[in-house]
Amino acid sequence: MTEKYYYEDPYIRTFESTVEKEQTDENGHYVVLTSTAFYPTGGGQPHDMGTIDGVVVKNVEEVDGEVRHYLESPLSGQEKVRGEVDWNRRFDHMQQHAGQHILSAAFEDLFGYKTISFHLGKDTCTIDLDISNLVEEEAKRAEDYANNVILTNKKIVAKWVAPDEAKQFPLRKQLSVTENIRLVMIPDVDYSGCGGTHPASTGEVGGISILKWEKQKKLVRVTFVCGKRIIDELYQKQKVMEKLTKTLSVPQENVAEAAQRLVQQTKEQEKAMDDLREKLLAFEAEALVNSPLPVGDYNVVQLITNEYGMKELQKLAKMMLNENSSVIVLLVSEVGEKIQIVCGRGADVNLDMNLVLKEVLPVINGKGGGKKDFAQGGGEAIRSAEDVLKELISQCTVDV
Ligand SMILES: [Zn+2]
Repeated sequence: MTEKYYYEDPYIRTFESTVEKEQTDENGHYVVLTSTAFYPTGGGQPHDMGTIDGVVVKNVEEVDGEVRHYLESPLSGQEKVRGEVDWNRRFDHMQQHAGQHILSAAFEDLFGYKTISFHLGKDTCTIDLDISNLVEEEAKRAEDYANNVILTNKKIVAKWVAPDEAKQFPLRKQLSVTENIRLVMIPDVDYSGCGGTHPASTGEVGGISILKWEKQKKLVRVTFVCGKRIIDELYQKQKVMEKLTKTLSVPQENVAEAAQRLVQQTKEQEKAMDDLREKLLAFEAEALVNSPLPVGDYNVVQLITNEYGMKELQKLAKMMLNENSSVIVLLVSEVGEKIQIVCGRGADVNLDMNLVLKEVLPVINGKGGGKKDFAQGGGEAIRSAEDVLKELISQCTVDV
């Protein structure tokens, strides 16, 4: 069993120890020391990082009572080593972890909402509450309550107890172990079985900020940050706000309204643009349909364009066919690597446009189809739009 300094005193960040063994398992190369201040992954708290004799400790896991420090490279073979825990990372975890105890206590004591899980993430933390809905006012009250616990700077005490002794405390949750019970106690606030690391008093948590919450099936997931993470979060939000106020040229309190107005304006402009394009198409249809070219027995309206997508081509063709029932329309658009084709005929013309299209599609590795009077398809621009149009015209003159 490794001697665990992080339980004796979570503030130990450097230590001397002796190498017990150094070897490799499926997770990498690791060293086991007779004693360590490195906290291994567990109880919702991520492992510590740092160095042992200057070699980077990437991961720490407890396996069969021994703490395995996974190293970036082997140690030099010295028996006595010096460990140094990355204190910023560890203290951050201590703040988040203790903050979680306090926030969970706040939700339970104020509203009876039970925490059923905790996640300590890289940037934010979450707790899952066993409820189907959380309202703004409740979240605000819990946050205030928790920050008041922090402000009153209560002691946080960790203690190893026997099962009988554990029963004397108002535990928040049933214990998951029956021996080696470690209680973490914040007098009058929280009594929980916990194997994590915490600061010595609630004041060191620094503060709790609830960022958001969302429904997740039958529970509510609350996202929060504690301590220095609040400052980091505020800094990021401030940067975003600076950009927004500059871009929108309004003070912070008017940003939301200005953004809404902008979205609304964009929608209106898009609608106006659609209307204009529709009018433009109508003009184009009018001009084209009155100047068809004779091809064999047919009058054929032909168009090569790089301005229209499939939808507009179809619209244009339909406008023309509504206008003149005795023409054929062959429209080819070439945009980027794509060729798109629409071919149709008026009610007075007897020609299978689907067949015309199907004969031509293979030359552009295309796909598509339709009905006898109207068909569309597209493919690759491996032939020019002019060539494709020629193919379509020649199909119109083939006897079928
Ligand atoms: Zn804890």
